[in-house]
Amino acid sequence: RARMTQIPARGFQLADQQALDRQQKLDRDLRQAIGRNQLRLLFQPQVNLRTRQINGAESLMRWEHPELGLISPAEFIPIAEETGLIVDLGRWILGEACRQAAHWPSPIVVAVNVSPIQFQQTDIVATVEAALHRSGLPPSRLEMEITESQDLVDAGRVRDAMWRLRNLGVRLSIDDFGTGYSSLSYFRDLPFDTVKVDQSFIRDRNSDADRLLLSAILELARKMGKSTIAEGVEDEATAAWLAEAGCTSGQGYHFSRPISDLELTGLLEVERRH
Ligand code: C2E
Ligand code: CA
Ligand code: CA
Ligand code: CA
Repeated sequence: RARMTQIPARGFQLADQQALDRQQKLDRDLRQAIGRNQLRLLFQPQVNLRTRQINGAESLMRWEHPELGLISPAEFIPIAEETGLIVDLGRWILGEACRQAAHWPSPIVVAVNVSPIQFQQTDIVATVEAALHRSGLPPSRLEMEITESQDLVDAGRVRDAMWRLRNLGVRLSIDDFGTGYSSLSYFRDLPFDTVKVDQSFIRDRNSDADRLLLSAILELARKMGKSTIAEGVEDEATAAWLAEAGCTSGQGYHFSRPISDLELTGLLEVERRH
């Protein structure tokens, strides 16, 4: 395991040992978490910035650990990626997200986070086809969020899978856009529908340079025919600025926190009646 070998022989601290113990415990327990019903998905609404109507929701994992309480995906997803458990976990997530979204009114889209490892170590296309087939969700109502990373462009396997998914009619989104190395080459090399601008760009609009950079990303995406979504929208000033700058959608605490399937269905029902 990479994480273990990274720890230097000298200077090994008690704190390191405790962190390692926790990781190993989480790894062990995560293997049983699916079967023991400790995992669930929450959904965070994605809102059209012009009409302010919900046009989709991102599925976000939650793990209710019996002793340790609620554990953040920011902690357990990297462990699952390192141990390969992300493959089984990712299959469960896709199945579950499609199953729940199939009950939402059309054309509400479910956006599911997928790890680059799922592209490298499994036939992700077969997994997606199975999830769609079993749930009856139309492919156009599934969007896969792929975090930008060097591997995306380098690996022909990933690119090939992205084309096949696109041919199925599934939507593809580049997550955390602007934080990786090769953001601009994606436009040339990869098929995708949506640019999801990382929340660091949304929050730090302090200098002229920050604002110019964000506007330029939004404009480039629009000119390349991509839709855009901003994550981490926390106030109305930000939402209004983004709408003015031509950003398609927004997601963040200003609109809603991640909520249960039941709560989301309720919100959609209220919107439908108005
Ligand atoms: P992400 O994909 O960048 O997701 C956005 C994170 O920002 C979520 O954290 C979300 O709850 C949080 N967030 C939403 N609105 C706001 C806001 O207005 N302000 C701020 N400050 N934060 C906001 P969360 O749910 O803890 O997820 C953390 C990360 O874990 C995600 O980052 C994603 O990379 C990963 N993750 C979550 N669920 C899954 C999953 O099912 N599969 C995979 N592979 N990764 C997942
Ligand atoms: Ca995401
Ligand atoms: Ca991410
Ligand atoms: Ca992000």
